[in-house]
Amino acid sequence: MGTAPVDGPAAPVRVGVYGGTFDPVHIGHLAIAEEVRWALALQQVRFVPAALQPLKGVPPGAAPVQRLAMIRLACADNPAFVPDDLELRRPPPSYTVETLEHLRARFGSGVELWFIVGADAARELPRWRRVADLVTLARLAIVERPGHAFDPIAFEQAVPAGAGRYVLLQGPRLDLSSTEIRRRVATRRPVRYLVPEAVRQYIADQGLYHQDPAHG
Ligand code: ATP
Ligand code: MG
Repeated sequence: MGTAPVDGPAAPVRVGVYGGTFDPVHIGHLAIAEEVRWALALQQVRFVPAALQPLKGVPPGAAPVQRLAMIRLACADNPAFVPDDLELRRPPPSYTVETLEHLRARFGSGVELWFIVGADAARELPRWRRVADLVTLARLAIVERPGHAFDPIAFEQAVPAGAGRYVLLQGPRLDLSSTEIRRRVATRRPVRYLVPEAVRQYIADQGLYHQDPAHG
């Protein structure tokens, strides 16, 4: 595909890449994606569910196709949000650096890639595969998360290639996690307004998360 535009004549020049387990996607994810899109003037934010989060090491509660289906429902009303199943089409585990290489090859060198991470995930970045390549392929949009401090000095010591390659964004600071959503569903507490309505319906219709709320 080379450097040819892939999404028509108005090909994006700044693309956000938002990876995660999304088990399930919740309004914290969506509000953050929108905040980063706005703050960095991104043309699109691609939601890339992981086949298996390498550092989590446990299978997710919902099947990959179900996590993707919920992302599709959640992204439907935002033209800038693009569900991307590229990690699900490859054998697990998914490594972000390989995903970014794929997107770099697909979009070409003219496109700025921004990888979006919460402060909790950003703290783990030094342990990620080929992190120096990762921060060279993409800039990082690190978003604050309640209860998870991010230390820029520690980060730059651990990942020298990351210096000058990230921005720290305040974000809407929603103290919400997929673990909390799963736990609520398992204990029959409401999740209305915590996930998009279509996602709430899907969880109910598919009978997701009724057991084993502890993982994650
Ligand atoms: P789990 O509880 O299963 O770990 P999660 O809510 O942390 O779910 P993930 O799919 O693990 O969601 O996270 C995907 C990305 O979104 C990560 O970079 C994570 O830091 C970020 N993220 C998720 N929820 C929030 C939030 N409320 N505030 C900031 N970042 C968040
Ligand atoms: Mg998480």
